[in-house]
Amino acid sequence: MNYIDSKSLYFRYRNSTEDVLKNVDFNANKGEITAIIGESGSGKSTLLRILAGLEVPQKGELAINDRVLIDEEIFIPVEKRGIGMVFQDYALFPHLSVEKNILFGMNKMKKESASKRTCEVLDLVSMKEFIKRYPHELSGGQQQRVALARALAPKPGVILLDEPFSNLDANLQGKIRNELKTILKTSGETAIFVSHDKDDLEIADRVVILNKGEVIQTGTPADIFENP
Ligand code: ADP
Ligand code: ADP
Repeated sequence: MNYIDSKSLYFRYRNSTEDVLKNVDFNANKGEITAIIGESGSGKSTLLRILAGLEVPQKGELAINDRVLIDEEIFIPVEKRGIGMVFQDYALFPHLSVEKNILFGMNKMKKESASKRTCEVLDLVSMKEFIKRYPHELSGGQQQRVALARALAPKPGVILLDEPFSNLDANLQGKIRNELKTILKTSGETAIFVSHDKDDLEIADRVVILNKGEVIQTGTPADIFENP
């Protein structure tokens, strides 16, 4: 079985008459980076939010690491999934320092271990010298690194990233892609990211293409580039 294994997901927003996701099977392997690529409105964010537990599909199944999170009887809510998420707008707490933002996710851990881990993840994202700063004192790219560090800190096993490249300087995208890949690979986490830009799939191990709520293609980046 795949590390992340979902079957026949259907999703429709309240007040809507249209399915945003139709019969979506989505799988990801442990330790890999999987890209969900599709045009705006194709359902990428919705799928990510279902994996996180922020939306409930009307139908379908989801298991991660053999643990059933969604089926006909079971729904494990977001706070019991322990999945790391990096939102498109980063969603840092503006009134908390970088350090406190990262400690926030480790409130069940001993203070000493949490502090040690905070330094470790800040080092991983090359943001150690910014530990006492506040989010408004950081650039967009720096805020994103802190958001990534916060998500990685509790070693969640799965990390979800919503459009990690869309708010960043276009001139830096190649560099940022490679940095993100290095950070994710070093962390050992299973990572899923969403993008509307096919250029971003180059850092992925596997790619899932969504179109109007349906999976139309899956494969390696090479498969996708050969059969666009
Ligand atoms: P993507 O991330 O690929 O841009 P989304 O998952 O955000 O796509 O949206 C898929 C579709 O669902 C779009 O048609 C969007 O307008 C619609 N949608 C998204 N959020 C809501 C919502 N809260 N209520 C109703 N429709 C929504
Ligand atoms: P994304 O494509 O990254 O999901 P959007 O700009 O489509 O971003 O959506 C931003 C927010 O607006 C999301 O919280 C989404 O759920 C909500 N939203 C999007 N489309 C609709 C819609 N048709 N009706 C209500 N809410 C929507």
